[in-house]
Amino acid sequence: MANVTLSDVTKVYPGGVKAVDRVNLAIRDHEFVVLVGPSGCGKSTTLRMVAGLEEISSGIIRIGERVVNEVAPKDRDIAMVFQNYALYPHMTVYKNMAFSLSLRRRELGLSKADIDGKVRSAAAKLGIESLLERRPKELSGGQRQRVAVGRAIVRDPKVYLFDEPLSNLDAKLRVEMRSEIKRIQRGLGTTTIYVTHDQEEAMTLGDRVAVMKDGLLHQFGPPMEIYESPVNRFVAGFLGTPPMNFIEGRVVTDGERLALEDGGLRIRLPSAMRGRLTPYLNQPMTLGIRPDVLALSRPTGEVETLKVKVTLVEPLGDRKDMYMTTESGRNLVGRVDGREAVREGEQVDVHVDLGRIHLFESGDDGRAVVAHGAYASVA
Ligand code: ADP
Ligand code: MG
Repeated sequence: MANVTLSDVTKVYPGGVKAVDRVNLAIRDHEFVVLVGPSGCGKSTTLRMVAGLEEISSGIIRIGERVVNEVAPKDRDIAMVFQNYALYPHMTVYKNMAFSLSLRRRELGLSKADIDGKVRSAAAKLGIESLLERRPKELSGGQRQRVAVGRAIVRDPKVYLFDEPLSNLDAKLRVEMRSEIKRIQRGLGTTTIYVTHDQEEAMTLGDRVAVMKDGLLHQFGPPMEIYESPVNRFVAGFLGTPPMNFIEGRVVTDGERLALEDGGLRIRLPSAMRGRLTPYLNQPMTLGIRPDVLALSRPTGEVETLKVKVTLVEPLGDRKDMYMTTESGRNLVGRVDGREAVREGEQVDVHVDLGRIHLFESGDDGRAVVAHGAYASVA
């Protein structure tokens, strides 16, 4: 077991692409950390540097107390599962799982019986004992994925590294394997770093989630903290489906209150934030509203009501996604209870609980301005 620490870790590929830019991450022993971000943001590069498959341009990586910058991958005591988990096609499941241990049997001081015990115990954890004599081509996609995970488990490493291991599976299997990976990790307590571009996978799996973009770490924290208190507009928009609605406007006065105005749409801002927002008077700002905050019934507290026309309703069973247009012609998306009788073409009032809105400085990565304190803190 081990913690993993990245200090100012940077990767510049030959040719000059800065794939990872001074990333700091302190991953605790036993922790399940997910690196998430859009394609090309540097997740795999970060993981491959921890694995030792990619050289570090600058910075320090520690596994436990040991600096591993110069340590060969095989000596780092890690096990990695990739998206393309190539199993050896000519070997049985048993041999696939035993292979890496057999290669290093003497070095590791293991008897054949030890290896047999490890393979069978890993197979039992994954529910694949009955498949041990099959070859990969005789397995379903999900079974092959289990074998790939099994290959990592038998080695009983200090750290597991997963790079998009579920991307090749269909949606239902992906969700099943997701909870299975989480259950196994909980049982073993092995420190895990898991890479995905899928924000839902990140939220459901991670004890903490690290959100990256363009080689930079934007925020690192428990999933609900990141969801509720994103440090900037990028993070706010990346987590959650449908994504947060953003309304770009200008801060104006509206009687005693401040409001955000954008071409005919005026939304009053929370009175509790008046002091924080005064410096932004007449400045551009971005208002963020999560879809579930656009409610059909009026909540208590400070509320702003918008008249909208419903343009499209997508029933999802327990909930409905409701696309709508404001009188000023702005498109918004809401998420309401599946039993709401709302119809396309209808005019309705939607109520915004002003205690649950987000405000950002202008720009794609505009910093969150919160009621108390200067800004939300950046990881
Ligand atoms: P992610 O896993 O988040 O999709 P990667 O870590 O694979 O992102 O890539 C980060 C950036 O580094 C991208 O711009 C990618 O094109 C670039 N990159 C990745 N691998 C190499 C390489 N071997 N040589 C040069 N550039 C690379
Ligand atoms: Mg990748």
